[in-house]
Amino acid sequence: MDSQPVPVAFVGGVGRSGSTLLCRMLHRLPTCVHVGEISYLWRHGVQGNLPCSCGAAFLDCSFWTSVGQAAFGGWAEVDAARAESLRRGLGARNELFRVAAGRGSSRPEDLAEYADLTLAVFRAVREVSGSAVVVDNSKLASEAHLRMQTEGLDTRIVHLVRDSRGVAYSRSKQVPRQDIDNRQMGRHPPGRTAARWVLYNFLLEAISRRGAQRSLLRYEDFVAAPEAQFRRVVDFLGIEATEADFAFVHGNEVDLIGDHGIWGNPMRLRSGPQTIRLDEAWQQQMRRGTKLRVTALSLPGMLRYHYLGSAGRAPAVATSRLPNS
Ligand SMILES: [Zn+2]
Repeated sequence: MDSQPVPVAFVGGVGRSGSTLLCRMLHRLPTCVHVGEISYLWRHGVQGNLPCSCGAAFLDCSFWTSVGQAAFGGWAEVDAARAESLRRGLGARNELFRVAAGRGSSRPEDLAEYADLTLAVFRAVREVSGSAVVVDNSKLASEAHLRMQTEGLDTRIVHLVRDSRGVAYSRSKQVPRQDIDNRQMGRHPPGRTAARWVLYNFLLEAISRRGAQRSLLRYEDFVAAPEAQFRRVVDFLGIEATEADFAFVHGNEVDLIGDHGIWGNPMRLRSGPQTIRLDEAWQQQMRRGTKLRVTALSLPGMLRYHYLGSAGRAPAVATSRLPNS
């Protein structure tokens, strides 16, 4: 089993675009295991010992303890500070621009060292979970790049986008984290979010063109027809599923189960039946001036993803998939 590539379903995009929901739906399939934002494995997991989505501290979680054991003979055997420093260096902005432009990494040795760690972790996740496909909610283009460059992983990217005004509004609100004491979700000024929204989506597209299959999914289309869009994603990812495997989703109702996700949206703690609804609070709550500013700053992406023009909404089918090259 170890010689075969590990299939990775990488969910990319800007936070607050429905990625946690999509990953947790994938986790309902017997062939998939969701690991949260595994990019934070070293910093928030091994070093920070923050809670896993199962509620246990990372180093007390039985799943992650077994993964560490299978991968390295225990987490204490790995230099987590070194791993985190490699990850940060390889994800630096100038490095990403190089890769996006097709010039390759300027740090091939670091890349090889980090790829060895990554492959060991992903193989161990598969071994411990018994699930074939690892669902990775790390979102960022830098992380997509690191998965793609890891020989032994077979990475496909689901690129989630959401109207930049919805993202900017959501990221500007105060949201307490129920999962970690006294912490809030990070708050960001709408203008900065708009600029990042363009950059992150652009980089994810550019980097995935360097060798990964990518499928675009708009948050708005996803929540309007969760079951149909979910089936389309499963199909794109090449995941084997029977009709019975989809029994947890009916229309906009889903039944979620617990998992062992690292970091992520506090929504990661909610299990059981959930109703999926479009979050359009920004339309009423956001000031007109802020909406205009965010629209102007994110204009290239707003046009590219059909958020402007023809009543601001394109039919789902028109944007459901972009060519990969
Ligand atoms: Zn856990």
